[in-house]
Amino acid sequence: MDPSEHHSIVIVGGGTAGITVAARLCRALDKPDVCIVEPSDKHYYQPLWTLVGGGAATKESTERDEAGLIPPGAVWLRDAVTEFEPENNVVRTRDGRRLHYDYLIVAPGIQLDWHKVDGLPAALGKDGVCSNYAYQYVDSTWQFLRGMREGRAIFTNPNTPVKCGGAPQKIMWLAEHHFRRTGVRDQVQVTFATAGASIFGVKKYREALEKLVVARHIDTRFHHNLIAVRPAAREAVFTRSEPGGASEEVVLRYDLLHVTPPMSAPDFIKRSPLVNAAGWVEVDRASLRHVRYPNVFALGDASSLPTSKTGAAIRKQAPVLVSNLLAAMRGEAGTASYDGYTSCPLITGYGRLILAEFDYDGNPAETFPFDQSKERLSMYLLKKYALPQMYWHGMLRGRA
Ligand code: FAD
Repeated sequence: MDPSEHHSIVIVGGGTAGITVAARLCRALDKPDVCIVEPSDKHYYQPLWTLVGGGAATKESTERDEAGLIPPGAVWLRDAVTEFEPENNVVRTRDGRRLHYDYLIVAPGIQLDWHKVDGLPAALGKDGVCSNYAYQYVDSTWQFLRGMREGRAIFTNPNTPVKCGGAPQKIMWLAEHHFRRTGVRDQVQVTFATAGASIFGVKKYREALEKLVVARHIDTRFHHNLIAVRPAAREAVFTRSEPGGASEEVVLRYDLLHVTPPMSAPDFIKRSPLVNAAGWVEVDRASLRHVRYPNVFALGDASSLPTSKTGAAIRKQAPVLVSNLLAAMRGEAGTASYDGYTSCPLITGYGRLILAEFDYDGNPAETFPFDQSKERLSMYLLKKYALPQMYWHGMLRGRA
């Protein structure tokens, strides 16, 4: 192996963002010289994990071989980036490579910090403790939901940014519907314990969800941040802190505990010179270009873009990034601009979905000519059947 290689464009991460921009670049360039650094040989369509946890899809249907997704014209380096030297236009890798680049795109996603909840890593997947947030545990959600007849089901949401801000509650709505369908709803208390101050950040959809909370008798606990799990006693320990008030410890007994873990930028990103104070890759929110290193761009979950971290957001970020990067390659100033568009398909039951779409300012940015804050079967079918097809055959091919 030549430990020192050069590519015109190096992409860190071959997930949703990395493959989408690679495919677009390979379509746009006559002779692409694009290298994707990605350690995993599998790629996952994570948005479907909500339905897997609810028993409405199989986890195998969300998995593809990474090799089949590398666009023609790009090379895949099965390695992991460990360090950045933006002054030298170099990234270093786990296997000892020094990769030189003209342009760098940083897209390694978000890190799941399971270890930040005391007792959680050992408890996961056993005795009612589950999570949709990892391929290896998503089956346990359905296993425990299916077996539940009585008691308390708790669904948590941490005090950090997470990928898909709506996913912590989507599984709660599915569970609630499942308990009704199986006739055990009166015996099961459904609790949504969130570190947030409300059920959803955007007013239009929050108001719709608040009505459902009342109608479906959801026990909501705001300002509750999960800090520990005690599986022997089946206790979930939260810090409850009202803004401006003192904080106190709250212990809730559970029979089922669905955990959305705390998340942060990957550690190797946090340690790098590319980040802002919060640890995210610091790019301009309109151009997606790095604020200090003009030949560096970032998008997706690891970026500092102040919007909800979703694949739908990446679908709108990718063409902007590619347009501005191609302009930079021509020596021109890019003019493409991202408005913060993101989407959260809020599943509110089997066959029901509120399609939240909004921009940086929390203004609805809806696709369809009807009120998307209403629960609809059509939007559920879109989520379950149409969006996965669009992802594999459109977005990851650089077409949609
Ligand atoms: P990822 O797709 O996670 O990819 C990051 C890649 O970087 C990975 O392949 C990883 O192996 C690689 N990597 C990591 N470290 C390194 C390294 N050191 N060097 C090189 N590569 C590295 N989005 C929606 O739009 N709608 C939804 O309904 C939705 N629901 C969701 C539900 C759940 C349960 C989950 C978990 C996610 C959901 N999302 C949803 C979010 C969506 O999946 C993510 O926002 C999206 O996948 C982020 O893309 P990304 O490329 O930034 O990160």
